[in-house]
Amino acid sequence: MLFDLLERLTSLTRVWFRQHPLLADIQPIQLSALMYLARCNRYSNTPLAVTDYLGLTKGTVSQSLKALETKRLIVKSPDARDKRSVHLELTEEARVLLGAVMPPEFLRNATQRMGAQAVELESLLAELLRNVQRTEDVPSFGLCKTCRFHQHVAGAPFCGLTKEPLAHADIELICWEHEFASET
Ligand code: SF4
Repeated sequence: MLFDLLERLTSLTRVWFRQHPLLADIQPIQLSALMYLARCNRYSNTPLAVTDYLGLTKGTVSQSLKALETKRLIVKSPDARDKRSVHLELTEEARVLLGAVMPPEFLRNATQRMGAQAVELESLLAELLRNVQRTEDVPSFGLCKTCRFHQHVAGAPFCGLTKEPLAHADIELICWEHEFASET
C-alpha cells in the first residue's frame, strides 16, 4: 500500500538523519526548517511561512529558528518595505551542511541503481503531490513555474501577484503564495 511505503521511507530517512554525525546537534524540526528555507523563494522565507509549511505551532517554530540563529545556520534581515517583518536566510555554513547530507546517501544509491525507473517514480510522486495540492484544503507551496500568477515580461519571469520581476532560478523554488490555475 502506498501509505505504508511512504511511511517506511520517511522513517528510514528520519533514522538516517538522526544518525548522521554532521547532524548530531540539529533537531529534526530544525533540519526541516533549514530544508524548507533552502527550497523557498524570497516571499516565503518568513517565520510565519515556515510555521505554515511545517504545520507546527508558532512557539515551537520560533524556538527552533532561534536555535538555528544561535548555531549561525540562519540570519534574520528586516523586510525592505515592512520593518516589522523579517526574512530568514541560510548562512554559507548551512548551505554546506545541507549539501553534505542531502539527499540521504541510501536514497541516492538506490535511485542510481534503479536508473530510468527512479526517474519515472519521481515524476509519478510529483504528480501525486500536485494532485493533493490541487484538491485538498492545504497551502500548496508549489513550484513558482506552475503558479497561475507566473508570467513572462520582456522575456524574463515575472510575478503577476507581486508585480515584481523574478530571477530565472526563482521559478524552481516553492512559494507560500503559490496557486494552481483552476482546471477547466
Ligand atoms: S508567480 Fe506565484 S509562485 Fe511565483 S512568486 Fe508569484 S505568487 Fe509566488
